[in-house]
This record gives sequence, C-alpha cells and structure tokens, in this order.
Amino acid sequence: MPPTESSPRHLRAAIAGNPNSGKTSLFNALTGSYHAVGNYPGVTVERREGYARGNGCIFRVVDLPGTYSLTAYSAEEEVARNFVIEQRPDVVVDVVDAANLERNLYLAVQIIEMEAPLVVALNMIDVARRRRLDIDVDKLSSLLGVPVVATQAHRGVGTRELLAACAQVAADPERHIPKQIRYGHHVDEQVGHLAGLISHDEGLRGRFRPRWLAVKLIEKDSAVADQVASLAADPGAIRAAADHAIHSIETHFGEHSESVIAEGRHGFAAGVVRECLRLPTVPLRTRTDRIDSVTCHRVGGPIILVCVVYGLFVSVFKVADEWSWLFGKSPTEWMEWAFERLAESCSSLQARAPLLHSLLTDGIIGGVGGVMAFVPLILVMFAFVAVLEDTGYVARVAFVMDRLLKVFGLQGKSILAMIVSGGLGGGGCAVPGVMATRTLREEKDRLVTMLVAPLMNCGAKMPVYLMLIAAFFPRIQARILFVVWLMSWIVALGAAWVLRKAVVRGEQTPFVMELPPYHVPTLRGVLMHTWERTWAYVRKAGTVILAVSVIMWFLMYFPRVDASPFEERIAVAQAELGGEELVAVIQAIRNDQATAQLRNSVAGRLGSGLVPVSQWAGFDWRTNISLIGGFAAKELVVGTFGVAYSMGNVDPDATDSLSNRLATDPQWSRVKAFALIMFVMVYAPCMATQVTIWRESGSVRWALFSTAYATLLGFALAVLVYQGGLALGLGQ
Ligand code: GDP
Ligand code: MG
Repeated sequence: MPPTESSPRHLRAAIAGNPNSGKTSLFNALTGSYHAVGNYPGVTVERREGYARGNGCIFRVVDLPGTYSLTAYSAEEEVARNFVIEQRPDVVVDVVDAANLERNLYLAVQIIEMEAPLVVALNMIDVARRRRLDIDVDKLSSLLGVPVVATQAHRGVGTRELLAACAQVAADPERHIPKQIRYGHHVDEQVGHLAGLISHDEGLRGRFRPRWLAVKLIEKDSAVADQVASLAADPGAIRAAADHAIHSIETHFGEHSESVIAEGRHGFAAGVVRECLRLPTVPLRTRTDRIDSVTCHRVGGPIILVCVVYGLFVSVFKVADEWSWLFGKSPTEWMEWAFERLAESCSSLQARAPLLHSLLTDGIIGGVGGVMAFVPLILVMFAFVAVLEDTGYVARVAFVMDRLLKVFGLQGKSILAMIVSGGLGGGGCAVPGVMATRTLREEKDRLVTMLVAPLMNCGAKMPVYLMLIAAFFPRIQARILFVVWLMSWIVALGAAWVLRKAVVRGEQTPFVMELPPYHVPTLRGVLMHTWERTWAYVRKAGTVILAVSVIMWFLMYFPRVDASPFEERIAVAQAELGGEELVAVIQAIRNDQATAQLRNSVAGRLGSGLVPVSQWAGFDWRTNISLIGGFAAKELVVGTFGVAYSMGNVDPDATDSLSNRLATDPQWSRVKAFALIMFVMVYAPCMATQVTIWRESGSVRWALFSTAYATLLGFALAVLVYQGGLALGLGQ
C-alpha cells in the first residue's frame, strides 16, 4: 500500500558512526528527545531509541554505539554489527565526520560491505568548511553509491533532507544496496568463489549476505567463523573453502589475509577522499590546533587541568552558596529556608502524634531533606561539568592524563570510565563509569579500571563532603574540596598500581586517543545535561533514599526505651526547681532520653558494636550508623547523619542545620571530619555499582572483592588521617 497522510509507513532506522561524529546529536535532532551528549567515546554503550517523523514515515530510530570498525573486537563493535545483521533495519544512517573524512569512511566501507541500505550523513560540515575543506558531496555520493546529505547535527541542519533520503532508500532497499568494494582481482576472485558456495548453503542462505560473510571468513573473524560452524548445512566444506582462499591470498601477497582486507578498505577510503576532497592550498592551523598546543602541552596541560578543576570548585561555591544573588539569598540559603519552614509546619503534630511527628521530621525530612539540601550545589557543579564536556575539554583531560595513567598500569581509555565516575570533580556516577569500561579491549585493563573507578568522587559523595566541609572548614571550602579531588586520584592511581602488580597482572594494550574539535557549548545542551543529572539525583532522593531513610528511621526508633525513669527525673526537677533553670534541666533530661533511645535501637546497637574498631578512625556510634546506610547508597550517609543527629538531640532550635550542629559538637574536630571524608571517598561502592561490577565482570567474586578491598583501604586511610592528625596535635 502506498503511504498516505492517514497511514504513515513504519520504518526502522539505525544511526551508526565513529565516536564523536555527532550520532547522539543527530539522534536528538531527529527524535526531539534529549540524551546526554558527551565528547568522549564509550558513553553510548547502551542502546537508545526514539521516534522521528518525516516524508509520511515514522522512523523508529536507534542510536548505536560509536565504533571505528565493525570487526567485533569490542563490545560496542559487536553490538553495532549484530544490530545491523540481525535486526536488519530498513535504513542505516552512517554519521561521517566531514572534518575527518578518511578515517570515518573506513567504517562506511564496512557498512557498505554488509550490503545494508545506507544513507551517509556528512556531519560537522560547518567544521569542515571552517577548515576550508572542500568536499564534493555529489561525487562522494556517486563513488559510494549511496545518498549523502550534509548535516550539522547539533543545530538540526539537514535533518529534513536526511529523512527524505532515508524514506527513499527504505521504500526500495534492494535497489539502494550500495556498490561493492573491490579488493583487486585476486582477492575478488576468492571472495566471489567463497560467496558462491555460501549462497548455495541451506543453513546460511537468506541469513547473511554471502559476499560479506566471505570477506569476513577471509578476514579470520572468529565470531563469524563460529556462526558459520553452528549454522551452515555443510560447515566442513565452507571451512575448507575459506582456508583455501586464505592460503591463496596469503601466498599471493606474502601478508596475512586480514591485513590484505584491511588495506583494501583503507585504500578504498583513501581513494574516495582523493577524488572528492580538495584541501586548502595553504595548510591551515585551526583554532582547535592552537588551543590544543596549550591545553595538551606536556607540562602546561596538567597545570591547566589542575587550575580548571580548582576554578570549578571555587566558582561552584561562590555561585551556589556564597553570593546572595537570588532575591537576597544564595540558592543554598533558599533551600535551607524551605526545609526550615517545612519542619516548622509539622511541629503541631509533636504533642498529638509523636510517632508520626518523628517519622516525618526525623525520618523523612531529616533523610530526604538532608539529601535535597545539596541540590543547588550539585546543580551548579553539574552545569559547570556539562560546559567542560560540551566544549571538548574533557577529551583533552583524557589526553593529558593518558601519559600519567600508563605509569600506574591503567590505559588511556580507563580515563573515560574515571571521568564518567566523577573524576572531574563531582559530576559523575560509578554505574555508567563501570559500563564505560566496555570500550577497553583488554580484559585485565578493564577489570582494574572497574575496580578503581568507584573511588572517584561521584555526585552522591558530594553532599557528605560539602556538609563536613561547611561545618569544619568554612573559610577554605573550595581548597579542601580540591584536596579531596586530588586525593581521589592519588588513591585511585595507587590502588590501580597495586592491583596491577598483585591481583590482575598482564600486558597493556596501546590505544589511539580522540581529540574532537572544540565547540562553543549550546545553552540548550548544557541546560539539558544539567537538568538530566540533577533530576536523576532528585528522583533518587524521592525513591530509593526515601525508602531506605524510612527503614533506617525504624531501625533507629525501635525498640523503645522505658520512659519512666526520665519522667521521674523530670518530676523531681519540677518539684525542686523553677524558671529558666527548670527549662534547662528538662532539656538536658530529654537529651539524655533521646540519646539513650537511639543507643538502644537496632541501629544504635549495631553502631555501638562497631565502635571498638571504628574508634581507631575516630568514628563514634552515630557516625557508624550513617556509614552503614551508605552501603546502600552514598546519599544516605548525609541523610542518616541527619536522622541520627536530630533524633539524638532534642533542641528547641531543632531547625538548626546539620553542619552547624556538628560544628558546635565538642565531640567533633577537623581531623575527625577529614578522616570521615577519606573513608566515605573510598569505602565500599554503593549497591548499584556493586551489581554493575558483578554484571560487567561476569563474576560475583569481583563485586565482593571490590567491596572488601575498598572498605579495608578506606578504613586504613581514615585511621592514618585520624591517628596522624592526633599525633600532630590537630585533634580537639
Ligand atoms: P557521538 O559520540 O557520535 O554521539 O557525538 P555527539 O552527538 O555526542 O557529538 C559530539 C560533539 O560534537 C558534541 O559536542 C556536539 O555538540 C558536536 N556536534 C555534533 N554535530 C555537530 C556539527 O554538525 N557541527 C559541529 N560544529 N558540532 C557538532
Ligand atoms: Mg553518543
């Protein structure tokens, strides 16, 4: 049935391309939905789907992971390849970075070879033009034998034309099968022969394109060989023919057959580029090159990185906390103000329903509110990190850190996982960080990266730091946070070095680092990025954190202690004293009661039980309670702290912030606070991360190992800080 206005055709489209070619930008421009748009490969491991309308068609669009090749060496390549082969989308859009045409065409050649219905989006055309690269689009289209549409994905330019081309190709995919790649007479003959055999095999016919399968077999692709072995009607015959072809090619060229094929593809890509690209007559030093000569400098690069991160922290505190620029208050002050009003509004319940009152104010407002109070700081931090990402600076950080990482037995791509986990300050999460290790080909590199990535400062650890820093280091907040950031890298690199020497030994693999051109970030991109991450944080506070806060409250509220001895003491006091003295005494008694209650509770007993060990690091029983909560999610450390301190202190001025309460508590000191910061930074990854490590490493043993070693390491570090601090006379 021909498409009409009333019955749109439903088509499936897949977006393929090199990392950083603009796939996700194109996906967003086509589907109108917003997803993280980053500058480093490896974030788009998971598949994303959306819908695009155009030309009377509805396209279900999938954003495939970015790859340079489809050889199925890495998880991404396998995902992308299997999708095209098995799902057989109606059209594949290959996003090609016009400014790096030759390298990008290498992937296009492989998609062409798969005989998939293809449309090339010649993206970053603006960058190419700025570099005065003159690309003949029509020529390119005719050489490849597929439609080519120039686009600027991040601005949505060219998407309409692209959809039109997609609709056209999808309308008659068989007619739009691209031209075949020629490898020269000798190879083509072997390929043709093998393909002929494959097309007559009952098990393979109709399942794979014969020519593609033949090339893959000659390329010694093990995944394909396995599939042939299990699916072919006569696997022996095909194996023998493939071996014959390989042998023939290798004797003819005196080279491995896979190199012959790879060279053929490179040759094709280079040839296409020579035909349709005119370079500027005077070699152009681009703006990106000029900036890179400074930011990627051997010595200058690391110094700039350190300055950038320090600047980031300073500005975050100024904007979120110190400057009263929002109607006379700072954003943080507004948040505190809101929660004070909220707690006050519950006070009428205290007499009528003490249990409900405690659940609401101590459990929910204390727990969730404690986490929510940091939203302004987190939001500003996320916004700054989003700007860094969108400009392309994060890719430079990876480049600068690469050299350093190698010394510690990590590899270049590890940096991506670490940055995603929060390595730039506090904008990350270890769950996608662990997933980003999929880009590492070498299993051992991957494992070590997975084990150290959770040591980075993820968004959830920030509130703990911020709360303690506000309490004990109010005048030097940014500087302390900066020290914490440095420490996280030192600890992570040290841990990697030890793990590499002691637990996971093995060779390192070399790797080419990407340096995409700098971009001026778009306001919309930064806002979407910031909003997405902040919303994820808020949503977590409203769900997981809420649930566990309530559970923790129960554990802290029950079993109840007998109130009568305290009532008796109050009665005695009332008989003997009066006026202000009486008020003070009653409050002291109530405080004793609340503390006795908390100590007697399930959580209190657990916390007290750990004191013989935890005292080495200076943690009291209340701190232990909150650290137990942190095993589930790091946000809960602050939340539970809030609950433990509000339950344990019945202050008439109960709306006092947690930071103030700790700062005035004689039990606390700067040394204790810093020891706690170190422990929270390192100890056990949260539950979600553990599950991810389990899944990604394929073994529950590694998840348990990461929890055990991190907790021990964190404790050792905290003891070191605390005992060292005491020895230097810094405590109390
Ligand atoms: P992906 O890794 O392929 O998904 O690439 P992204 O979509 O994340 O894009 C990488 C960067 O390139 C982002 O900062 C985009 O804003 C930017 N970008 C994407 N398309 C274009 C374009 O056509 N021109 C320019 N100048 N920048 C682009
Ligand atoms: Mg992407």
